[in-house]
Amino acid sequence: MEHLLRIEHLGIAVKDLAAAEALYTALLGVGPYKREAVESEGVITSFFRTGPNKIELLESTRPDGPIAKAIEKRGEGIHHVAFEVADIRAEMARLKAAGFQLLNEEPKRGADNKWVCFIHPKSTNGVLLELCQEIPAAE
Ligand code: ZN
Repeated sequence: MEHLLRIEHLGIAVKDLAAAEALYTALLGVGPYKREAVESEGVITSFFRTGPNKIELLESTRPDGPIAKAIEKRGEGIHHVAFEVADIRAEMARLKAAGFQLLNEEPKRGADNKWVCFIHPKSTNGVLLELCQEIPAAE
């Protein structure tokens, strides 16, 4: 059985969201379909669709936010790889039991109507992973 069903999106850390949106619009030939702030994470996100794939641009809203820190350390670029899962709590429990280091103990409300959980890059060969599950309409 597959647990991580597909790559749901790639997250890209950018310094200037408006400039990056213009650039990715020129690159992809299509504009963003959504811009959304996630206050708890200190980010503004912008989502693009291209074919079956999604790109999430992330700009920090505060100087000490996780995106600002990532850019300070490594510059702009790929910040995380997000995988879709069918049951985020079950996957979190499975991965925790397997020794992966989860960055949140409970699913958090992320951008684009998702429950999310991040996995520390220390436990995944240097790649920050995001698990995400669409939030059902009732929740
Ligand atoms: Zn993401």
